Amino acid sequence: MSTLPETAEFDCQSCGACCAYSAEWPRFSLEPDEALALIPEKFVSADLSGMACENDRCLALAGELGKHVACTIYEVRPDVCRACMPGDPECLMARSFHGMTGERG
Ligand code: SF4
Ligand code: SF4
Repeated sequence: MSTLPETAEFDCQSCGACCAYSAEWPRFSLEPDEALALIPEKFVSADLSGMACENDRCLALAGELGKHVACTIYEVRPDVCRACMPGDPECLMARSFHGMTGERG
């Protein structure tokens, strides 16, 4: 039986839309320096304000969007990434942008 909340109707591991929506999204906020230090430098933006992106896709995202993806720094990802919940307005916006349906799958 699933223990996920009702809003968790999407499978993030076959999505990744919110990790490839805007370079403005995976920004650092209130993380302590020790937490940010755990993120490999190659994934941090030149101005140190957030995750480095290419064409609005976070460099730490591996895999193929909409098929199978993974955050390669999942354990040490920024707070904003932890706050994003499947089914929330940002999720739906990102999925819609990438042509993914609002339905499961
Ligand atoms: S857009 Fe939504 S479903 Fe897709 S990875 Fe982000 S939170 Fe998960
Ligand atoms: S750090 Fe991970 S969860 Fe956050 S945007 Fe990048 S790939 Fe997505």
